[in-house]
Amino acid sequence: MINQIKYKRVLLKLSGEILMGDQKYGHDSKAIEKVANDIKQVHDMGVQICLVVGGGNIYRGVSGAAAGMERSTADHMGMIATVMNALALQYYLEQKQIKTRVLSAIPMMTICEPYVRRRAMRHMEKGRVVIFAAGTGNPFFTTDTAASLRAIEMGCDALLKGTQVDGVYNSDPKKNKDASRFERITYKEVLTNDLTVMDASAISLARENNLPIIVFSLHKQGAFAEAMQHQGNFTIIEG
Ligand code: UDP
Repeated sequence: MINQIKYKRVLLKLSGEILMGDQKYGHDSKAIEKVANDIKQVHDMGVQICLVVGGGNIYRGVSGAAAGMERSTADHMGMIATVMNALALQYYLEQKQIKTRVLSAIPMMTICEPYVRRRAMRHMEKGRVVIFAAGTGNPFFTTDTAASLRAIEMGCDALLKGTQVDGVYNSDPKKNKDASRFERITYKEVLTNDLTVMDASAISLARENNLPIIVFSLHKQGAFAEAMQHQGNFTIIEG
């Protein structure tokens, strides 16, 4: 099995929503445990894994801004939400005997390590799963952009984006039954067709640095391991 794996080091981007399962807000232990199982499966294959987790299950800066709050403050709150998710993921991964480190772009020294690139590299070389929290540390960005940035900084072979659907479609498959999935699509096509898989800054950063993005559904158990071997349904964004 190990021979078929195309990637030695990857970054998995998890949206906050994935951690809330069927709930309307927050965390669902079964949903987090399922994600932890998927990560363990790939970790057991000897792949170095780092994670960027979103915060949309708790708080999004744009919602706060829409309600009248100053955007920077709202975004700081959103970044803190991602730290909560990172700690939850750490707990569930460590329950499965996977060594992890949470590194936050906003230093919170009594809770986790601050983000230091060389330290993160060292953790990964030692086989620890590194969870990047607090996005880029800056307001007006998203955790998708943080995922592209950290994947490039870590020298990852690919960025895996686990979503609600199994790839990039030409229109929303939840609204249009005739929507079709791309097997492969270029960064430029994603940008010019305004496909909403990741925000434009994340795609542009990946494009400038030739970072392949694999979009797949996290709903199916084992889909992360399948995507790593280019099996099952997924879309690859490259070229
Ligand atoms: N955020 C930010 N800067 C970053 C990353 C995130 O300000 O570099 C804030 C922003 O308010 C965002 C929130 O954190 O709405 C949660 O992140 P995101 O919406 O990307 O989470 P996801 O949709 O992946 O759950």
